[in-house]
Amino acid sequence: MSNRRENHRGPRSPGIVEVILKNIPPEAGVVRVEYEGPRIALYSKSPQYFDQNTFVIPEIVNSLKKRVVVRVDDSVRKVEDEARELLAKLVPKEAGIENMFFDEVTGEVTLDCKVPKLINPELLKSFDSMGWRLKIKKAPSMGSTTVQQIMHTLKSTSSERVAFLRESGERIFRERLLEINEVRLTALGGFKEVGRSSMLLETDDSKILLDCGIHPGGREPPHCYPRLDWLKADLDDIDAIVLSHGHMDHAGFLPILYKYGYKGPLYCTEPTLALITLLLSDALKISTMEGKQYSYDMKDIRTMISHAVPIPYGSVTDISPDIKLVLYNAGHILGSSAVHLHVGEGAHNVVYTGDFKFARSLLLEAASSNFPRVETLIMESTYGNKSDVVPPREEVDLAFVKSINDTLNQGGKVLIPVPAVGRAQEIMLVLDMYMRQKILAETTIFIEGMIREATAIHLYYPEFLNRELRDRIIENGENPFITEYFSIVEHPNNRDEALSSGPAIILATSGMLEGGPSVQYFRELAGDQRNKLLFVSYQVQGTLGRRALDGSKQVSLMEDGGRMKIIDINCQVEKVEGFSGHSDYNQLLRYVGRLRPKLQRVIVDHGERRKIENLSSSIERIFRLPVYQPAVLDSIKLY
Ligand SMILES: [Zn+2]
Repeated sequence: MSNRRENHRGPRSPGIVEVILKNIPPEAGVVRVEYEGPRIALYSKSPQYFDQNTFVIPEIVNSLKKRVVVRVDDSVRKVEDEARELLAKLVPKEAGIENMFFDEVTGEVTLDCKVPKLINPELLKSFDSMGWRLKIKKAPSMGSTTVQQIMHTLKSTSSERVAFLRESGERIFRERLLEINEVRLTALGGFKEVGRSSMLLETDDSKILLDCGIHPGGREPPHCYPRLDWLKADLDDIDAIVLSHGHMDHAGFLPILYKYGYKGPLYCTEPTLALITLLLSDALKISTMEGKQYSYDMKDIRTMISHAVPIPYGSVTDISPDIKLVLYNAGHILGSSAVHLHVGEGAHNVVYTGDFKFARSLLLEAASSNFPRVETLIMESTYGNKSDVVPPREEVDLAFVKSINDTLNQGGKVLIPVPAVGRAQEIMLVLDMYMRQKILAETTIFIEGMIREATAIHLYYPEFLNRELRDRIIENGENPFITEYFSIVEHPNNRDEALSSGPAIILATSGMLEGGPSVQYFRELAGDQRNKLLFVSYQVQGTLGRRALDGSKQVSLMEDGGRMKIIDINCQVEKVEGFSGHSDYNQLLRYVGRLRPKLQRVIVDHGERRKIENLSSSIERIFRLPVYQPAVLDSIKLY
């Protein structure tokens, strides 16, 4: 059925390439113009021309209204080994090179070093003539294996990526079929429920998939995965996938899409790509260890990575002939985004919030609400009940600190099961801050599980953290997460110190006691009434965490040999509310009220049925706006 593919290869927008080639002076040395995904790349034999004549590119961008980048033509680029050798010679030893990544697709080199200011810019001028463009980055104090894994994948797929970016550029800039647009939204998952978030936005010209998650608690396939079977279209017909953030309930299905033949781009921020790569790889590793079949493998994760087109916040990106995308900070986890889609020539503007927090945290700035225009708002409603109001943050912190102090003072241990991404880093900052102020009793904080790697990813992208943290990391070279109070348990054999007698705080994944080291610590600590199990995140029905929180006095756990063991829960069990990465009820309403100009409609998703109903009626009453509560498989005409 796919004659669309041929259309995609059809005529380019008239004359983009020709216009550029005709108007650029010969001194610029531009030998060819190619699409590079959503960008237009000018390949030059004398890239210095553009450094000296800085007005040239903005002029082209202004007349074409497209993103334009200058690339060094291969013919004047030295082979990587030679360039690498020279760079190592030019950078003084004291600057401490940690990593060099030569991206053959863009001709850019990312140089991570310990003290960038020791590099003399004059020295690097001689590197310029090698035909590579250098980006210097301060190396984080903890290396990330996930970032390495991504760089390795990009490197090993260089030639495929060149072809992929060229083809997706041809497709983005193909001619539009119609001038008048209809815009339609179809709910595929995460509507009247939490989990498997996904939806399709269609115009006459394009099909864009927003998020593609799995339902962690779903048992049967029709309820675990987004209803892509409903698309009645080839995966080839999808122009782009936009990912709001790196959580499994928004992104867990992506490798399966690539496995079954989706070949298009994935747009998200750089940290989102890193975080979802970590979570997907970990899910695969755990199921392999448990001897289970999994629906994708490492190859599919690598295919996903090689099709990712990372974009920064605030940059306007063409993703199809009639849709422009901008990502805005959503304040939920590192790199999380609200997705702004500008359809047609401004005919309609849609904002999909993803998961968002409209308040500043120790980790992130509050979600941005400053969109140029928005007519349709698609918003989450995790905390959509009137009663879902969290106390002021300081009160939350102090209740948390008091709860820990009570246990430490009795000589007990506090086990805090945490999700590795986001919540763990927020809790680490809270513990460090109050221990430093001597409000929290001083003791060792042990951390184990994926927390270390997720933290390393936070340190690699400090520009996505809030201003204060960013300054501490970039300006002062600090690691604000792992301070002298923390001890990383690298291997299960090293748990003795954490488990030996005396008070301690233990942070371990997973957050709901569903596998991972938190379960092992729980098994050791649950029997002693001096200890405490302290939850800081939502506990889904059916998980071990939820059973403990609901007051079970005994649970059975699988031992290594496959035998069941009964565990008595004598320890105290508590939960502190208020560290969530989601907006509470008041913040949800405040956000709607903040949007200008006035909305035309609101669509509520990502919530339990009653929360969606409650939030919808509040928005209708307060803002006098039409509010829709679609179910999975419903479609709404937006324009
Ligand atoms: Zn999320």
